[in-house]
Amino acid sequence: MAENSKIILTGDRPTGKLHVGHYVGSLKRRVELQNSGEFEKIFIMIADAQALTDNADHPAKVRENIMEVALDYLSVGIDPAKSTIFIQSHIAELTELTFYYMNLVTVSRLQRNPTVKAEIQMRNFETSIPVGFFTYPISQAADITAFKATTVPVGEDQAPMLEQTREIVHKFNSVYGETLVEPQILLPENEACLRLPGTDGKAKMSKSLGNCIYLSESEEDVRKKVMSMFTDPDHIRVQDPGKLEGNTVFTYLDAFGNDEHFAEYLPEYANLDELKEHYKRGGLGDVKVKKFLNSVLQEELSPIRARRAEYEKNLDQVYEILRSGSETAKETAAKTLEEVKHAMKIDYFQEPTFLAEQKEKFII
Ligand code: ATP
Ligand code: MG
Repeated sequence: MAENSKIILTGDRPTGKLHVGHYVGSLKRRVELQNSGEFEKIFIMIADAQALTDNADHPAKVRENIMEVALDYLSVGIDPAKSTIFIQSHIAELTELTFYYMNLVTVSRLQRNPTVKAEIQMRNFETSIPVGFFTYPISQAADITAFKATTVPVGEDQAPMLEQTREIVHKFNSVYGETLVEPQILLPENEACLRLPGTDGKAKMSKSLGNCIYLSESEEDVRKKVMSMFTDPDHIRVQDPGKLEGNTVFTYLDAFGNDEHFAEYLPEYANLDELKEHYKRGGLGDVKVKKFLNSVLQEELSPIRARRAEYEKNLDQVYEILRSGSETAKETAAKTLEEVKHAMKIDYFQEPTFLAEQKEKFII
C-alpha cells in the first residue's frame, strides 16, 4: 500500500432499508468519491454486529436486512469493482481489536458521547443499556482503524464517533507506538444534508423513528408520503404567510432541488429563493410546493428503483459480491490486527518469537 494513500471506510446498520436521509447524508457522496479515482481503497460495511447491540432480540430483522442494504448500495451506484462491500460479523478481527481498544477508553468518556446519549434516550433504555450498545463507539473505532481509513463520509450524527475514534488512535499510538491511522470525517457540504429531518418534521429521518422515505419505495408510496409531509402548521390558508424554519418540505428542497428542476417542473420560478420568498409573503399553497418536491424526488429515485429491480433478479450475483467482499475485508483487517498485537507485545508466536527472547534472558 502506497504511503499517504487515501482509504474510505463507511457503512450502515442493517436495521431496515436505506432511506433518502442516508442517500444525501452519505451514500451519494460515497458514489462520487468512488468514481473520483482519488481513493486507493473503499470499504463499505454492513454493520450487522452493531445492529445487534440494540436488536439482540431481533436477529431475524438484522438477517433480513442484509440483502436489502446490499441492494440499496448497488442501486445507488456503489460499484463492487471499485468498492469492497462486506459484512461486519464475518470479520472476527474487528471484535478482537474492540477488546483491546476498550482498555483505552473510560466509562465516563463513553457516557459523555452525545450520540450515545441521544440514542439511549431515543430507545428508552434508561438504566438497562446493553453493554454492547454502550460500547459501540469503541467497536466503530475498530471498524475504521482495521482498514486504516483516512476518510469517513457520514452524516453529522456520526461526528462524536469520529472524535472518539481519533482519541483512541492517539492513545494507542502514544502508548504502543505509531501503528494506527487517524481518520477524518467527511460531512455533506450542503447544510440540509447533514441531518435530513423525517417526513414528520422530527430532527432526523431514522429507521428507528419510522419517518422515512425509502430508496426502494414505489412511485405512488413516495408521492403519498410527500403529500402528507410536515410543513408549517400555521400556514392554513393559501394567502397566509408561511414559515420556512422547521418546514420539512423546504428542507428537502434545499437537499434535493436545483435550478434545472425549476426549469423542468415549475418554470414560473427561477430558483428556490424565489419560491421561498413567495411562500413567506403568502399566496403559495403547500400542495403546489409538495407536488414540485415530489417531481424532484421521483427524478432522483426512479433510476435507483430501476437498477434495484435488475439486481433483485440477480440475487446470486449480489450474494457473491458480499461473500468475496467479506473475504477481502477480512484479509485487510487481519493484517492490521497483526500489527496491533505486535505493537502491544502480544505476538508471542511471530518471529522473533517470545521463546527466543526468553532463552536470551535465561542463559547465564
Ligand atoms: P438506526 O435508526 O437503526 O440508527 P439510521 O437511520 O440512523 O438507523 P444508520 O445506519 O445508523 O441509519 O446510519 C448510516 C449512515 O447514514 C450514517 O453515516 C449516518 O450519519 C447517515 N444518516 C442516517 N440518517 C441520516 C439523516 N437523517 N440525515 C443524514 N445522514 C443520515
Ligand atoms: Mg443511526
